[in-house]
Amino acid sequence: MKVALLSDIHANLVALEAVLAAMGPVDALWVTGDSVGYGPDPSDVLALLGERRATLVAGNHDRAVATGQGLELFNPIAAAAVLVHREWLKPEECDLLAALPETLETSEFTLCHGSLRDPLWEYVFTPQAAAASFALAKTAHCCAGHTHVPGLYRRTATGVEPLRVRAETPYSLLDRAFLNPGSVGQPRDTDPRASYAVLDLDDGTVTFHRASYQVGETQRRIRERGLPAILADRLAFGM
Ligand code: ZN
Repeated sequence: MKVALLSDIHANLVALEAVLAAMGPVDALWVTGDSVGYGPDPSDVLALLGERRATLVAGNHDRAVATGQGLELFNPIAAAAVLVHREWLKPEECDLLAALPETLETSEFTLCHGSLRDPLWEYVFTPQAAAASFALAKTAHCCAGHTHVPGLYRRTATGVEPLRVRAETPYSLLDRAFLNPGSVGQPRDTDPRASYAVLDLDDGTVTFHRASYQVGETQRRIRERGLPAILADRLAFGM
């Protein structure tokens, strides 16, 4: 069974479509939060994920767009985009976002946006932070997002090791792994291409991928629809 792992789509429909086209057939789509916020197409992204029967958990932007609360926790540009998305989305779309769980368990994986210590807000950038989630997880593996940087932490006999992941290279999950597929819609590792990962549950491996998309088209929509221009500019640099 193959599962595509996506995160931080951030209303970038052009990037999401490119990723879905590039990945080929998969048995399931798991999305670890922040499907909305920042980008030009929040409604269309939610509709496409619904059509593809994706499994979603809540991100900090999803929750803020759904409720209008906690805006003081965001930088001013992110907060401005949250308010714009609240205006654009229909009540039923906000209800859908509000109903998303903060964590979700399958037999082997726990999905969350940040971490199990703080599902909406913690950035896992260190082996210590990954180990803290392992301590709280009832499953072998954790899948998260939020950093917009692809990452993999694996537990070995000597501790939790961080890996600098390369695309198109299968990595064994070993007995415990904390995975972050990077961001589909707003990568921040200086590579502007959309980032995602595919789990092979039969082999116990994960492979990270990058997909090129028409960044210029997403930038055009961001500017045309009146979102802060910096949200368009940064996409060219993967930052
Ligand atoms: Zn995000």
